[in-house]
Amino acid sequence: MEHSDITLNCSDCNSEFVFTAGEQAFYAEKGFTNQPRRCKNCRDSRKAGSSRGGAGMSGGGGYGAGGGQRSDRQMFPAICDECGQETMVPFQPSGNKPVYCSDCFSARRQQSAYPRY
Ligand SMILES: [Zn+2]
Ligand SMILES: [Zn+2]
Repeated sequence: MEHSDITLNCSDCNSEFVFTAGEQAFYAEKGFTNQPRRCKNCRDSRKAGSSRGGAGMSGGGGYGAGGGQRSDRQMFPAICDECGQETMVPFQPSGNKPVYCSDCFSARRQQSAYPRY
């Protein structure tokens, strides 16, 4: 169907504005049957005003992103019983228990689903 530019009067500021053929096609595509009642300026200012009141894009960021390793947890140097690598463990190595680096520890944990301690 054919569209041609229409001149309308804004219901807010009462100034004339053009409802262009492209906008009409856009409206038709979206299923809008009404013509716009406000000029672009008034629509934009209304849009800006209403979106500012709601939940914007501010807030909610910057916290909880890198909370993986707390540095206040004391770590002890140890030698991995499996591969001999130096590693840090979160407990004091007692000497009568094998100590594993994180690689070997997770590898062993995958081997046996229920490790016996
Ligand atoms: Zn207007
Ligand atoms: Zn190891």
